[in-house]
Amino acid sequence: MPLEKLFVSDARDAAHVGKTVLIQGWIRTRRDSKGGFSFLEINDGSCMGNIQVIADADLANYKDEIQRLSAGCSVAIEGEVKASEGKQATEIQASQVTVLGWADDFPLQKKRHSFEKLREWAHIRARSNTFGAVARVRNQICQSIHQFFHENNFLYVHTPIITASDCEGAGEMFKVTTLDLDRLAKSGGPVNYEFDFFDKPSFLTVSGQLEAETYATALGRVYTFGPTFRAENSNTSRHLSEFWMIEPEAAFFDLADDMALAESFLRKILSDVLNRCDEDLQFFDQRIQKGLIESLRKVAETPFQHMTYTDAIKVLENCGESFEFPIAWGTDLQAEHERYLTEKHVAGPLILTDYPSTIKPFYMRLSDDRKTVAAMDVLVPGVGEIIGGSQREERLDVLTQRMAEMDLREEDYWWYLDLRRYGTVPHAGFGLGLERLVQYTTGMANIRDVIPFPRTPGNAEF
Ligand code: ATP
Ligand code: MN
Repeated sequence: MPLEKLFVSDARDAAHVGKTVLIQGWIRTRRDSKGGFSFLEINDGSCMGNIQVIADADLANYKDEIQRLSAGCSVAIEGEVKASEGKQATEIQASQVTVLGWADDFPLQKKRHSFEKLREWAHIRARSNTFGAVARVRNQICQSIHQFFHENNFLYVHTPIITASDCEGAGEMFKVTTLDLDRLAKSGGPVNYEFDFFDKPSFLTVSGQLEAETYATALGRVYTFGPTFRAENSNTSRHLSEFWMIEPEAAFFDLADDMALAESFLRKILSDVLNRCDEDLQFFDQRIQKGLIESLRKVAETPFQHMTYTDAIKVLENCGESFEFPIAWGTDLQAEHERYLTEKHVAGPLILTDYPSTIKPFYMRLSDDRKTVAAMDVLVPGVGEIIGGSQREERLDVLTQRMAEMDLREEDYWWYLDLRRYGTVPHAGFGLGLERLVQYTTGMANIRDVIPFPRTPGNAEF
């Protein structure tokens, strides 16, 4: 009978004591004891912790192989799970150690490397504690997202990645083309998009919202969850050129419904991570951000504060803080302003509403004052804006008027306007950047460290 294969996470559970099992993973450390045996710490990614393996000197390959094992080597261990006297519940007494792969000059030795350095080794950084933990938390968040929407009757829809419509100018777009740029440059002639693949200029999407609206106004509640691209040249700790966005859109929702959705959504994600990623969160709490668990727990339990943009401006004008960017009604809030409000003023998540129409896209619903729109941003400590959402403009005449003011051509949005021509309904939605949420739940300071392969200006390695 083949041996039972166990993940390290299971082997660390005392329930398996007495079984003879197979463990496969990578060596984190090897320690030789004077007593004539070695301790191997094995990790297989199933959890933060390692399992300790005891390899006695009488194993056939002890001198030739086991004593040459180093961090990064891959091994298969057969042995018995035993109760341990150490700080872990169990350990494994090896009856056989098979070396699957050596790892001479493995870059991730015991010494700690900076996150900047690890970005250059993105192909192996997942083998470090921090990046393993980030990957597991990110995975849990994604599972919870789908579960949350499923339980709340939101249908998962796939919106296109290649698009010819520029969603509101949410950001600079990457062009998609099959034209021969070298030849064009040599010819010096004008670009004729009729010869391009899609017969017109096409781009990578900056948001699936407009397409999601078409399904929301047919199926009621939907969400998209996919990659999004922005070609902005912003080198900050919270911007990526390629990131994953979650965008729910619901018919018959107003701004209050939208805010309630965003809040219960964030609460659900946080409490799932708190319940299911305890070991990883302990790590982040100790090594990355002291007090993280306590603050997440508080957020998961307390109602979010609300404030209008207008009130937020008053707070910022009178707070006595000196900001790099001046603040006045009508200006967009910068990261420093958002962070002051959420970190210092309320010390927790904050939902800002009713932004000036001039700084928000055309599709947001114009308020009766005609100066503001039914927009909401959720701000969280450490990150700033994590969610941006709004009630959408469902009135055809108001929508076309706003498009005209913003120099948008109706013919480019003919299908979007049809949604208002045929059975228009109030509806609302939001966009949440997955990586900002992962940043927030892990306390990781830089967004480049919460996605496996970050794309930023000048960097698309791997
Ligand atoms: P910011 O002002 O912070 O650049 P934004 O207002 O341009 O963000 P939206 O267009 O409202 O962003 O996008 C919705 C959400 O997507 C944001 O709340 C944020 O969580 C996320 N997001 C936006 N741009 C980026 C980016 N470049 N990298 C990672 N996440 C992003
Ligand atoms: Mn926004």
